[in-house]
Amino acid sequence: LSDRLANVFSSLRSKGRLSEADIDRTAREIRIALLEADVALPVVKAFIAAIKERATGSEVAQALNPAQQVIKIVNEELIGILGGETRRLQFAKNPPTVIMLAGLQGAGKTTLAGKLGLWLRKAGHQPLLVAADLQRPNAVQQLQVVGERAGVEVYAPQPGSGVGDPIQVARDSIEHARRTMRDIVIVDTAGRLGIDEELMAQAAGIRDAVSPDETLFVVDAMIGQDAVRTAEAFRDGVGFSGVVLSKLDGDARGGAALSVRHVTGQPIMFASTGEKLEDFDVFHPDRMASRILGMGDVLTLIEQAETAFDADQQQKMAAKLTGGDEFTLEDFLEQMLAVRKLGPLGNLLGMLPGAGQLKDQLADLDEKHLDRVQAIIRGMTPAERADPKMINGSRRLRIANGSGVTVTDVNQLVDRFFEARKMMKQMGGAMGLPGMGRRKS
Ligand code: GDP
Ligand code: MG
Repeated sequence: LSDRLANVFSSLRSKGRLSEADIDRTAREIRIALLEADVALPVVKAFIAAIKERATGSEVAQALNPAQQVIKIVNEELIGILGGETRRLQFAKNPPTVIMLAGLQGAGKTTLAGKLGLWLRKAGHQPLLVAADLQRPNAVQQLQVVGERAGVEVYAPQPGSGVGDPIQVARDSIEHARRTMRDIVIVDTAGRLGIDEELMAQAAGIRDAVSPDETLFVVDAMIGQDAVRTAEAFRDGVGFSGVVLSKLDGDARGGAALSVRHVTGQPIMFASTGEKLEDFDVFHPDRMASRILGMGDVLTLIEQAETAFDADQQQKMAAKLTGGDEFTLEDFLEQMLAVRKLGPLGNLLGMLPGAGQLKDQLADLDEKHLDRVQAIIRGMTPAERADPKMINGSRRLRIANGSGVTVTDVNQLVDRFFEARKMMKQMGGAMGLPGMGRRKS
């Protein structure tokens, strides 16, 4: 998905303005991309319609170029579909708050019980985990292991007690929680590999026995299109008030998230991102949107860039970058200072799409290096900054001495500047980040 969208966006990057044909072509590509990411068709349709309307409408931020406009719109719409603000857990007025977990076998319920338990315990609660999965021989033990790691008590039938009814166990656990002053009860339930009636009946029985304040439907983000069918079955069979996406550490592109949210109307509340109990967080629609876009936190970068550059400066810069005035070292310095206002370079790089691959090349672009670049440019005369071509050998030596660096450093900067200028022209000033020029390999 990300490759496809990256292509769309890079082809828009060179345009000055969005034509209708651009919008159509982009909409088509996004449609295919979403389908490839296993997003359900009705969801895709609704999404594309919204994008087209907005891209065609008057809403066009002046400071953005077309690629950024489309990214921004797609991103905002994705966040909208994914649920906007994150919903928090609803706690019962009279404790204990009961949270029931439902989902297919292997979805990650038991693991989630531990994660949620740990997370709640750290937040100052006294949770109790309940082993209401008596289906598989090892299920109880698995929860006990998880509970121990989370430092959370597990309520389970005594071995040999003869209690084999998960509904009874669940009911008893609430009593136990009251007696022992637990304020949250997390009920782990059994799953099947596929949806079946018996499973649903048992889950519904547990639900009726414990009257959960929250029923969380746990779904493996890797199952793609199947997520819709599974979610519908659980919605109809048990009902749920929130969704937890698990295994987001895999290469799932998030199609399941989009579909489940859209089809069931229930919010995605948590995300599970690994086997360790700490690999867990509340769900962030904006991060998921970025993930689906495959572009890192590219929007954050754009937004930060928008605030750091004032509009005038940006217009002036855009004119230079798109081939009007020549981009000078003075501009380079100015832009670098603006970008440095955004924060440490490492953070910035982390937000750039594809920064992972670029890491090696950018490794030497550390803060110290930027300090040096700044010193070198400051050591130049205004004339040299305006017309870097005039910086000959003797000037380089003077600049090096004046700014406490070697001639090689000055050479590198000047070379890199020319390269960056060339690249910026090619990109039409898409991002216009100084110092990001490709290194000679
Ligand atoms: P349950 O059958 O729904 O209780 O699922 P489990 O909690 O037993 O999880 C099934 C498998 O998926 C186990 O091997 C877990 O370690 C693994 N698992 C659960 N959540 C995650 C996750 O977020 N990421 C990864 N990589 N593995 C997970
Ligand atoms: Mg389990």
